[in-house]
Amino acid sequence: MASKTRQHNVTAAQWAANGDASGQTDLMEPGAAHYGENVFSPAVQKARLPKDVYKKLQATLDKGSALDPALADAVAKEMREWAMEKGATHYTHWFQPLTNLTAEKHDSFFNPAGDGLAIAEFSGKELIQGEPDASSFPTGGIRATFEARGYTAWDPTSPAFILENPNGAYLCIPTAFVSWTGEALDQKIPLLRSMDALSTVALRALKLFGDKASHRIFTTVGPEQEYFLIDEQYFYERPDLYTTGRTLYGAKPAKGHELDEHYFGSIPERVLAYMLEAEHELRRLGVPVKTRHNEVAPAQYELAPMFENSNVGSDHQQLTMQVLQNVARRYGLVCLLHEKPFAGVNGSGKHNNWSMGTDTGHNLLDPGDTPAENLQFLFFCAAVIAAVDKHQELLRATVANVGQDHRLGANEAPPAIISIFLGQELENAFDAVAAGKAADDVSGNFLGLGSPVLPPLPLHGGDRNRTSPFAFTGNKFEFRALGSSMSLGMVNATLNTIAAEAIDELVDKAEALQAKGKKRDEAVLEVVKGVWKKHKRIVFDGDGYSDVWHKEAAKRGLSNLRTTPDALPWLVEKQTVQLFERYEVLSERELESRFEVAVEQYSTKLNIESEVAASIARTMILPAAVRYLGELKAAGITAPATELKALIDDLVKKIKALEKVNVSHPAEEGLELAKYMRDKVIPAMDATRAVADDLERVVADDLWPLPKYSEMLFIK
Ligand code: ADP
Ligand code: MG
Repeated sequence: MASKTRQHNVTAAQWAANGDASGQTDLMEPGAAHYGENVFSPAVQKARLPKDVYKKLQATLDKGSALDPALADAVAKEMREWAMEKGATHYTHWFQPLTNLTAEKHDSFFNPAGDGLAIAEFSGKELIQGEPDASSFPTGGIRATFEARGYTAWDPTSPAFILENPNGAYLCIPTAFVSWTGEALDQKIPLLRSMDALSTVALRALKLFGDKASHRIFTTVGPEQEYFLIDEQYFYERPDLYTTGRTLYGAKPAKGHELDEHYFGSIPERVLAYMLEAEHELRRLGVPVKTRHNEVAPAQYELAPMFENSNVGSDHQQLTMQVLQNVARRYGLVCLLHEKPFAGVNGSGKHNNWSMGTDTGHNLLDPGDTPAENLQFLFFCAAVIAAVDKHQELLRATVANVGQDHRLGANEAPPAIISIFLGQELENAFDAVAAGKAADDVSGNFLGLGSPVLPPLPLHGGDRNRTSPFAFTGNKFEFRALGSSMSLGMVNATLNTIAAEAIDELVDKAEALQAKGKKRDEAVLEVVKGVWKKHKRIVFDGDGYSDVWHKEAAKRGLSNLRTTPDALPWLVEKQTVQLFERYEVLSERELESRFEVAVEQYSTKLNIESEVAASIARTMILPAAVRYLGELKAAGITAPATELKALIDDLVKKIKALEKVNVSHPAEEGLELAKYMRDKVIPAMDATRAVADDLERVVADDLWPLPKYSEMLFIK
């Protein structure tokens, strides 16, 4: 591809090729001297490993070629020595079970040497494979407890790193986690498999466009993380917060985010000090953090890194969530990653910026500066449009969880209906292709399209539509429907796989047309035209929150899966199974296990919430109200007492109803239980909360047992 490479493309390739952050040091803000110092980065590997070992390892990283197990001993030795120089005494296989969290089990480097001394050892075998006692990780029925073995396997494409504690340090080795029968039990395996699938298919497409230089395509991810910070004193005074991550009670404060004064406002000193330390720590771990700012809601903030290849970027995202939470405690703060910690206040999401790039440094979703690139760009862009339309329900399912139900499908961004924002110029370009304006004059010259809007396409996508769940933003798509607590694994595995399928199908069509004698450009244009005709319905540039759109989307036949139990079955729909099996990303059994885990997590989390809700109402809120009633009566104040008494009676009724649904679960588990939680338990919780929140408005403040929204949100 004779493309003029842009700076960010070059970096994409560097990242993509080796996960090396060091190449970006000059892009970091000043004070980045410690960048990557706790990472066994390719630069460290190059300096420390024997030349031939390093070379072979790089081949695995650059080209995705199979890992030579014989390398492991040499790598393990250097890795241990490096880690011990950094103060590490232990190592762990660091993996990502289906909990959205990471897991680790530490082993010491030291073994007794027999003479009362100990020697430090770490073998290649220990590097490559671990066998955690994995019986209590979610498996969705894949592994009964009597066959509880699980294995972790070294992922050499994501560099090992060191985590520190005031009293020591340990080496973390990113690993994949499988059942003893070889099924994926984690976030990483499908992601890696999907990256392979997409690479193969995209290379096939690039051949069509005459690209012989590229050998590997990498998908990239740049996640924007939203979070809340509150003073830890309030956190510990709220059993709902420390057991469920969100407030189950709390009247709306007089002041919300109506004034919009917080968004991008100056950052309070304690918060900024926290951010600086968290970012410093992340940089030392090689996470290329870049932007920070206040978000829309009071006490809400955002952090975004530079993008990286999907695998490394996802690992770094897990680290980011962990570091954000850990460092907060040093400042007397608690970082809330729940999707909706405060009812009536904007929730937190995660924007998943996604693209595909070649190992030669070309971003396939960059419209480019020249017409020929535009044609190739339109082809890949069309594939994404087709993929998102065909698998809209699956995408919705990948972002479904209990916290998300307060956002998607509720009155908040983004809507549960998946649609794509392209921007006017790009829509015009597709319209021009579809209208065949260029039909006579395309051979080798895309400029001849007859549409003056075409080359070069806008890099910044016109006005930015903040309400769209899936927006083209210049040279990438931004999937904005992720929840703030989510792992990136399944979402990106899905994006990669649906894109792979669509690219494959479009190449098939183009080649068939060529076989019938059409020229390449003609064939590609016809394929793009076909996509636009069939899938244009998914494209929507208006206000995604509006009622008008809900009606319009229904007319277009787009799905509106409002709740998690509506969405999750798409993980095991026939077309989903076919898709993932075809590209060997997830088998039917693996998909079923993921479905079961997600359904169970939904019900379990709701069950915890509803039990905590009942307990807080009965043991904290009711007693406070009763005490206040006593005070009013003692003072002989009758009217407010009568009013309060009515509320108390109502609360008791609502608590009883809640307690009843809590013990009346259906015999059948799985989806049926999930629907019961949604249809019976949530309304009972909401009803209890409504009365409790009314009580909060009338009971004496000094008797109220829970910190209030105004305190939690505005005291920084
Ligand atoms: P905006 O949200 O205003 O578009 P940026 O352009 O800075 O902000 O991008 C936001 C996020 O998108 C960042 O995390 C950035 O690294 C990421 N990003 C930029 N280019 C790509 C790409 N090619 N692939 C994936 N993510 C990308
Ligand atoms: Mg953004």
